[in-house]
Order: sequence, then structure tokens, then C-alpha cells
Amino acid sequence: SAKAAGRGMLRFFDPAMQRAVEERSALEARLRDAIGGKQFTLYCQPQFDADLTLTGGEMLLRWQHPERGLVGPGDFIPLAETSGLIMPIGAWVLEEACRRVAAWRDDPILGRLCYSVNISAQQLHHPDFVQQTLAALQGADLPPGRICLELTESLLAQNVEDVIGKMHTLRHHGVCFSIDDFGTGYSSLNYLRRLPLYALKIDQSFVQDEQSEAIVEVIIALGKKLDLHVIAEGVETQAQLDGLAGKGCQAYQGYLLGKPMPLAAFHDKYRGR
Ligand code: C2E
Ligand code: MG
Ligand code: MG
Ligand code: MG
Repeated sequence: SAKAAGRGMLRFFDPAMQRAVEERSALEARLRDAIGGKQFTLYCQPQFDADLTLTGGEMLLRWQHPERGLVGPGDFIPLAETSGLIMPIGAWVLEEACRRVAAWRDDPILGRLCYSVNISAQQLHHPDFVQQTLAALQGADLPPGRICLELTESLLAQNVEDVIGKMHTLRHHGVCFSIDDFGTGYSSLNYLRRLPLYALKIDQSFVQDEQSEAIVEVIIALGKKLDLHVIAEGVETQAQLDGLAGKGCQAYQGYLLGKPMPLAAFHDKYRGR
């Protein structure tokens, strides 16, 4: 410890900690460059209904790093959240998603579907969130019903009334909402009832674990009771798909049916012909 290192010596960090701190600030600096340097890109993963008809897709952020290649959000979203950089990044994601979805407006299939965008707690808690979201939609001339915002349960840990109010305002304009990774956070069932939700997304950990069958059944039943759509995430095998279908699941997303892909590839693969 610092104390044991002796008087007169200021040693706050051990070398491993020092390195971690340095790496963190280097990553933060590179993230800042990425925002200005157009290094972010959106991928889209298809979503399907019970008949396996395409219903839309989820926009997933990727960082095209000059040296490291394609970096997934798990490697930088947490730092973006703690450093505040999630605000400009999240704003870009919303604007880009609206622009790209709007550009598909004349496609007979893609032009009718709904696309989801992940929103961090900080974004939703920000006072300008409603305004910024509506501005992104208007800027792209996109009807608000074409976008679904995915929120996590942790959003409801603070400022619940404020969050519910914002959600109702956006819903009033036509924006849809779903709860992502449902079942992994702590949701008050009482709040859930008060949210203007379209869907619950069953977290992939439950979908992929045979021991979690009962949890999957309860979430599907809850969705039915609350009149919400239920989407299973992370469907990787036919056995998982069959099991979910047997339980009455109405929608699916996962590698079995389609991986996240660049938007141009998504367009090529799923557009109307
Ligand atoms: P999420 O919103 O729950 O997204 C689903 C994640 O599961 C995605 O990982 C997707 O690629 C992955 N996935 C989809 N199907 C399968 C499957 O069959 N098997 C497995 N093993 N994985 C599957 P990804 O793209 O790495 O994103 C991770 C998380 O990062 C997302 O989880 C979301 O919470 C966050 N994220 C992604 N894009 C954004 C963004 O634009 N803004 C914010 N705030 N968060 C984002
Ligand atoms: Mg999501
Ligand atoms: Mg999820
Ligand atoms: Mg997740």
C-alpha cells in the first residue's frame, strides 16, 4: 500500500493500476478523436416475427479504429458513459440512424419497418433528450414511428417520474420504446406498467441457458398480460428457436437468423426487389 511504501514517498498507484489509468485516458483521447474523425459506423441486425418475416433491425454501434480494426461497443461504451462522451456519441448514433433509415423510404420492404436504437441512461436523463430526438427525426424527415428506442431497466433507478414523462412525450409523437436485456436489471413491475412500451427484449443469457426456461416463460406471460411484444435476443440455435416458439414467443433476433451487418449489406440482403 501507499503507506507501507514509506514516509516521504508518494506512491498512490501500483504499476498495474498506473498502467490501467494510463490506458483509460489514452482510450478516452482516442474516443474523442473518433467522434471528430468519422470513425463510428452503424451495423444493423435483423429482427423477425413468429413467421420469420423481417420486422426491422437493431442499430449497433461499431468503432472503425485506424489500427485496431473494428471495435465492438462492449469495449468502449462503458468508458463513453463514465467520461460523458456518450452524449456526443449517442447524438451521432440517433442522427445517423434517422438519416440512414430515411434513405430507405422508397424501398417497399425496408421503407416500412421499424429500427431500434440503443439509448444510454445518461442520454435519457439529459434535459434536452426529447428535443434532440425529435430534432434528429425532423432533420431526417423521418416519421417517429420508424424508430424504437431501446432502454435498459437501470434507467429506472433514478428520476423515474422525469423518465416516464419524457417517454410519454416521445410516445405521443409516435416513437416506440422497448426494454433491452429484460430480466437482468431490477425492474419494478409497478413502473413497467406505467411506461408506454412496445416491447420487452428477453436477455440473451436466458435465451441461451436451458436452466432459464422458467424465466423465459414468465417474461412471455408478463408480456401477454401487459399487452407487450416480446422479442428473444441472442437466438443462436434451431433448438432455442423451437423452444421459444413453443412458449409463444412472437419475435426473434440472433445469429441463427442474421448477424449484425453494415447497413449497405443489410439493404442488399433484405430490400424489396
Ligand atoms: P444489446 O443492445 O443487448 O445488443 C445485442 C448484442 O448481442 C449485440 O452486441 C449483438 O451483436 C449481440 N448478438 C446478437 N445476436 C447474438 C447471438 O445470437 N449471439 C450472441 N452471442 N450475441 C448476439 P454488440 O453489437 O456487441 O453490442 C453490445 C451492447 O452494446 C448492446 O447490447 C448495447 O447495450 C450496447 N450498444 C450497442 N450499440 C449502442 C449504441 O449505439 N448506443 C449505446 N448506448 N449502446 C450501444
Ligand atoms: Mg439493444
Ligand atoms: Mg439486449
Ligand atoms: Mg446486451
